Amino acid sequence: AKKNGRNKYVFFHQTLYESRLKRIELEGDLRRAVANSELQLHYQPQVNVQTGELSGAEALARWHHPKLGEVSPQDFIPLAEDTGLIIPLGNGLIYEACRSQRQFLDWNLPPVPLSVNVSVIQLMDERIVDEFRTNLARFHLDPSLIWLEVTESISAAHFDTIKNCLEKIRQIGVKVSIDDFGTGHSSLSYLKSFPVDVLKIDRSFIDTIHESEENQAIVRSIFEMAKGLKLTVIAEGIETSAQLAWIRHEQMIYGQGYYFSRPLSAENYRDYVHHNHFL
Ligand code: C2E
Ligand code: CA
Ligand code: CA
Ligand code: CA
Repeated sequence: AKKNGRNKYVFFHQTLYESRLKRIELEGDLRRAVANSELQLHYQPQVNVQTGELSGAEALARWHHPKLGEVSPQDFIPLAEDTGLIIPLGNGLIYEACRSQRQFLDWNLPPVPLSVNVSVIQLMDERIVDEFRTNLARFHLDPSLIWLEVTESISAAHFDTIKNCLEKIRQIGVKVSIDDFGTGHSSLSYLKSFPVDVLKIDRSFIDTIHESEENQAIVRSIFEMAKGLKLTVIAEGIETSAQLAWIRHEQMIYGQGYYFSRPLSAENYRDYVHHNHFL
């Protein structure tokens, strides 16, 4: 038993060592990718589920690693956050999103908002306000055409800093959307005092909407509360026609998910949008 235990320990130790090495390697690769602007954005359409019209899009980061292939943002965003790379990376994506929105307008796509994901770490520094302002001006964009998305996992310690930063961003006309809503610990009072325009109901509630009366109750009450606070609601992760039917029946308006489309390259997004009707 002792020997097994020891072997286990050695085994664990080696993999930990290897995974650390991998992480250090990946960090170097990410640093180069950011410096060479190798990160890209893909665009996932958002649809008015009552009318079938395009209502917006979300920009999602993509990294094609020369050896590893596609690395998920769920892996490289946390790495970027831990290493401070999130600042240059995030600034590059704000630029890229504004550039794409200009391209979409020049392609005569409907003028709908494009949402950019930002990390709370980016909101600890007010210079992000200038990143938005500068790029909106650079690409001659009406500020209503760029939205900011941030998850609700905002720690109490940084609450005021982030709140101030979001207020300044809203003052330039950029709407603020709370991502993955319902998974954190936000309460009604938090929303009342927080600079927010849009709630995105987390995919986990939509996933099991048919198996779980609890989830139905949660989604309904988020929707009711949002109405009272005059917030826009977007249902995320719609994959099936049954989920869509439920969302429509509840009189919700905005949806996003694989049922409509996966995130697409700019050219594929253009072709998709040219189809015009999405229900
Ligand atoms: P998120 O912001 O909640 O983005 C939604 C994720 O769900 C995306 O994964 C999207 O591809 C996926 N998704 C959309 N519809 C469906 C669906 O119907 N079913 C399922 N199963 N999944 C769906 P992705 O692109 O891998 O991004 C993962 C997360 O990485 C994002 O979650 C976001 O937290 C983060 N992320 C992505 N891009 C950025 C970025 O530019 N900046 C920052 N800070 N974070 C980003
Ligand atoms: Ca998001
Ligand atoms: Ca989300
Ligand atoms: Ca998420």
